[in-house]
This record gives sequence, structure tokens and C-alpha cells, in this order.
Amino acid sequence: MTRALASIRTVADTQPIEDADRIEVVAIDGWKVVARKDEFKTGDRCVYFEIDSFLPIQDEFEFLRKSCFRSVQGLGDGFRLRTIKLRKQISQGLVMPIHDLLPARYKSAPDGTDVTKMLGVVLWEPPIPTQLQGKVRGNYPSFIHKTDQDRIQNCLKDFRKDWIDHIFETSVKLDGSSMTVFYNEGDFGVCSRNMDLAETEGNSFWQVANMHNLRAKLTDLGMNVAIQGELMGPGVQGNRENLKEIDMYVFDIYDIDNQRYMPASARMSLVHVLGLKHVPLIEQAIFSGFEDVGDFMRYTDRPSLHHSIAEGVVFKSIQDPDVSFKVINDGFLLKEKD
Ligand code: AMP
Ligand code: MN
Repeated sequence: MTRALASIRTVADTQPIEDADRIEVVAIDGWKVVARKDEFKTGDRCVYFEIDSFLPIQDEFEFLRKSCFRSVQGLGDGFRLRTIKLRKQISQGLVMPIHDLLPARYKSAPDGTDVTKMLGVVLWEPPIPTQLQGKVRGNYPSFIHKTDQDRIQNCLKDFRKDWIDHIFETSVKLDGSSMTVFYNEGDFGVCSRNMDLAETEGNSFWQVANMHNLRAKLTDLGMNVAIQGELMGPGVQGNRENLKEIDMYVFDIYDIDNQRYMPASARMSLVHVLGLKHVPLIEQAIFSGFEDVGDFMRYTDRPSLHHSIAEGVVFKSIQDPDVSFKVINDGFLLKEKD
């Protein structure tokens, strides 16, 4: 699944902002976006750009220059959309009329139509520090499932309709770098989020795998598994948790032979046997009382390992491993540095 950073959507609702005459809040599914007053009304089709969109330099986006212009190595110049607060109102992303950007026929395109490529939008990502870059051994193995969760703002409808009675395992979302260590038919590998890495001096992913002796431990175990976790510590995402040492916090274990994730209990025991750390677990519960994004947002208001504000919470369905989503704390996003 690639993230549709720019898509055709429908305005769900508009609301005034207290003490503001010229702006109002537009709702796009679970997202709230500040727009000029009366520019949109409920039911209007529009183009919605999610946070972390990096928009190309062109006239239609020039009004963003003052607040959003960035020049990034590898990406070039553009406008970065992030979470902001205007008149005490959180605003996430950008909503624009279709006719400003696309041919009129897009007005009847289905909801969610991805126009990211067409509009030249790419994902804004901070440059990767050298110790996390590494040397490529191969692509991310195709026999392992890649983890990526949708945001609650995009799947609240599915939650209300299909997952309302699911039991979810919730865990604190750690803001590091995704890593995978696998053993498969005698082959041992260490991967970053997108690639299989050769063992090189000074590479943080390999450093952690070796620190825990995972090659020997997994070979002894003889099971074909992929251990997925978050690399945290000095040199990773600014180490906002102030950890003394780099380490991995496991959040999933993939059973390669059966092509499925291990159930929570089996995962916890294996993490224990291997002497690894696990991401902080919150609970297993049913969240049928959660009706809107605000309910989920309040649930994320909790500390992380060593920080008073967690990045967010990940919800994983116990009965359907394909169902999982993330809730990123607005307070965290507002404090994000770039
Ligand atoms: P994002 O960091 O926004 O791309 O969200 C997805 C990523 O969150 C996953 O690929 C993991 O690397 C990471 N993550 C951090 N903490 C957790 C957790 N508790 N459960 C699952 N994924 C997590
Ligand atoms: Mn992350």
C-alpha cells in the first residue's frame, strides 16, 4: 500500500472557528483542515493533501511559501505540509478546489482517487543519517509482510462499520526507525524499512542484531521467522526519548512458514526467550465506545518510554491480523521538528 498523499475527497462538514471571521474548519473523513471561509461547503468534491506531502513549486501553491518552503537534499525544493494550529484549531494538510488543479472530469472521480503522482507530490522525509543508511544486500524480502498502518483519520468509517467489536491489542507507538531481523532456510538477514542490508561497520541495525547475538540465537531456534521492531536510541530520529544505548523494541513477529503473524502470546514468549525488548503494551480491549477521532486522540495522551508525550498508539486486531491502524498524537505532531 502506498500512501495516497493527494486524493479526490468529499467535504464531510464545515464548522466555524471561534473568534475567526475569515477562516473555518473543513472535515475530510476524520481530518480537520482550516480553509478560507465559504470556500467549501458540505458535499463539495475537493483535492485533499495529507500532512507530510511535499508539494512541487508551482503558482497554485505559492501561497504556502512563507510557512512551508523547504529545500531538502534528495528531494529538492518544495512545500512541506505539517500539522499546525491556527486560532487554537488544529489543521492537518491542505484542501483545494478541484478546478484549481485538475481537469473538470475529476469532479466525478470516486472518493479516494489517488492524484499524488499527477500533481507531482512526494512524501516529505528527513534526510537519513549515515549510520542508518547502510549498504544494500537486496530488496526487502518478499516472503515477509511489510508493516504499515493506515491512520485513524482515513479508516474511522471502517472501524465503526466492521471492526467495532474486535478485540484490539494496543501498544505505544515509538518514534524510531523500522527494522527487521530474519532467519529463513539458513539465511540470516537484517533489514531497514525498505531494504535488506549488508553487514557493514558502524551500521546501527546490524549493531543491534549483533549485540543480541541474533544470528546464533535464531539459527539455534531453527524457526523461519522475521522479527520486526523499532530501532531507538542515539542517532535515530533525534533520540527524543534520550536513550543511552541503541536498541530494538519488537512489535511483531512474522511466521514465514505459515505466512502469518504470530499471536500476541507466542510473540511475547519468543521476545522473552531471545532476550529482546518489546514496545510498551497498553491493553487488549474492545473500543466500541470510540465514536470519533477525538476519542482515539485522547487515548494517545500518555507518556512513552522516557518522554511525557508518546508519538501515538498502534491498534492491532486480535482476530484479524490484517486489521491495524495508527493514531498519532496531535500534540506530538505540533512539536515535531524538521
Ligand atoms: P510510521 O512511523 O508513521 O510510518 O508508522 C508505521 C511504523 O510505526 C511501523 O512501520 C513501525 O516501524 C513503527 N512502530 C512504532 N511503534 C510501533 C508499535 N507499537 N506497533 C507497530 N508499529 C510501530
Ligand atoms: Mn515512524
